[in-house]
Amino acid sequence: MHGSERRLAERTAIATVCLSGTLEDKLAAAAAAGFDGVEVFEPDLVASPLSPGEVRVRCADLGLAIELYQPFRDPDSTDPDRFAASLRRAERKFDVMTALGVDTVLVCSSVSPDAVTDVDRLAEQLHTLAERAGARGLRLAYEALAWGTFVNTYERSWEVVARADHPALGLCLDSFHILSRGSDPAGIAAIPGEKLFFLQLADAPHLSMDVLQWSRHHRLFPGQGSFDLPAFLAPVLAAGYSGPLSLEVFNDVFRQSDPTRTAVDARRSLLALAEAVAARVPALGAGPGAPPPPRLGGHAFTELGVDDGGGPQVAAALAALGFTRTGHHRSKPVDLWECGDARVLLNTTADHAGAAAITALGIESADPVASARRAEALCAPVLRHPHAADEADLAAVTAPDGTEVFFCRTDTTSGWRTDFAPTGSAPGPDHGNTGPAITCIDHVGLTQPFDHFDEAVLFYRSVLGLRPESATEVAPPFGLVRHRGVRDAGVRIALSVALLRRGEWAPGVAAPQYVAFATDDVLATARAARDAGAPLLAIPDNYYDDLDARLAPDPARLAAMRELGVLCDRDEHGEYLHVSTEVLGGRVFFQLVQRVGAYDGYGTADAPVRMAAHRRLRSVRSRPRRP
Ligand code: MG
Repeated sequence: MHGSERRLAERTAIATVCLSGTLEDKLAAAAAAGFDGVEVFEPDLVASPLSPGEVRVRCADLGLAIELYQPFRDPDSTDPDRFAASLRRAERKFDVMTALGVDTVLVCSSVSPDAVTDVDRLAEQLHTLAERAGARGLRLAYEALAWGTFVNTYERSWEVVARADHPALGLCLDSFHILSRGSDPAGIAAIPGEKLFFLQLADAPHLSMDVLQWSRHHRLFPGQGSFDLPAFLAPVLAAGYSGPLSLEVFNDVFRQSDPTRTAVDARRSLLALAEAVAARVPALGAGPGAPPPPRLGGHAFTELGVDDGGGPQVAAALAALGFTRTGHHRSKPVDLWECGDARVLLNTTADHAGAAAITALGIESADPVASARRAEALCAPVLRHPHAADEADLAAVTAPDGTEVFFCRTDTTSGWRTDFAPTGSAPGPDHGNTGPAITCIDHVGLTQPFDHFDEAVLFYRSVLGLRPESATEVAPPFGLVRHRGVRDAGVRIALSVALLRRGEWAPGVAAPQYVAFATDDVLATARAARDAGAPLLAIPDNYYDDLDARLAPDPARLAAMRELGVLCDRDEHGEYLHVSTEVLGGRVFFQLVQRVGAYDGYGTADAPVRMAAHRRLRSVRSRPRRP
């Protein structure tokens, strides 16, 4: 087939083990997400009230092909009786496959102590098994488990399959087993394509742990982890593999989250992977056809939904930080606040829980319509907002945590700004002085729902074209928190999640969110804000004593930082000075941040100190007053 005619994600499949629920739940979710087929995981079938024939009919009704039955374990044995039992077991499974209407079974390399460790003998046993399968029109896809007793690399599995030399015996390549061992996938290109019976794709974070545990608990969909999946897939396709792109991901979170959402996340991962491979090696075929991500130009605005309690608090804080209320929406109860190029919308209609919450991100896009079309092609829910005829039709999608993402342009006369009637006030800074002020939004910090952290990383990476940064973990007072930024030149979003589900004892701020405003002189901006009444968060002296011991800042500067509650992180690239306000309305706060040199992080190392300070205020204020 000519490369130009081939589409790389023409057939997509997902193993039922990736999804939560019963077999029926999983099949419905896979079909709803647009998958073309499934791998039926045997334990899902065994637990199902549907007979194999009924599963076949259900899949056909849903438009799903059954691409693979899996797994058949420990096929070979040095014990002749056990090998005979393996053949008998295989015949029963072949009966099931025939009833299911699937022709390929995944055969895993043995993990048993009686695994055959002689290549010729192993090839002979697999040949015998393949002869039985072939006689019934079935095929065996032999997979090297990374922890197999003898066969644990794709090179070894190919050696055995080549030696067995039976048309009903080929390979299953699983990216996790190959990449987790650090094998070089380039050699796959030399394997004849007709011997590549099946391909299973999974990503994973870099972890230093037992490979079996790593595989069973921490696999991720492509684009969510650290493996270079495009570099893996390219030689597989170059070898001539023509089967489906199929996902096999064992993950503790996916096993318990809504399968409908997980399936959408999964399909998005395959579309993005196919796009990445097509971009890297155009000769292999075309991507799935999503428009490329338009250039982004920074944060146009951040919208907060506020109620009668949170709204005045947030507005007062913005005013003290130097913002002015410059506009009021022509048809909705939404105020526009501005300082420099930082813009905040306060929306009193937003449907949200609590007194104040970040409800939308406005992202500058060179082509908002193309951004929305790309989002739709990558399975993101596109929002259709009712708007008056003379108002901007904003292109928007919903992120996994429910935050609305608007693609917009601020620099045109027809853009979103024209929906706001001017109040007559000029944009801030408005402190009655001309000192350094807020210049723009540096980043937005969003706590993600436990079930959707990895989904969010892939969403921002694929839909917006942002680059995920490496994850860091910190230990604040109430349990480990993972941080991972996604960014490009002008847009930064800091995602975080508690690493375990929170229990009932949760005295910290629940699911905190913040907007970080950039300034060129945080000490001067913070001082002006404090003098104007901004509720800056007090930081304990212990922090500054420790800072003095670690970094030895200039004493006058240290004194100013101590006075204003400014925190400081330093790395080999530069320095990050940041100060937070108190929490406004339950979960939202603002930050003033200054990047010095080429510092590129988020001051995550200081997060435990900030969180403890927020907790202190929360407990002081919630303590019952003595009569
Ligand atoms: Mg596998």
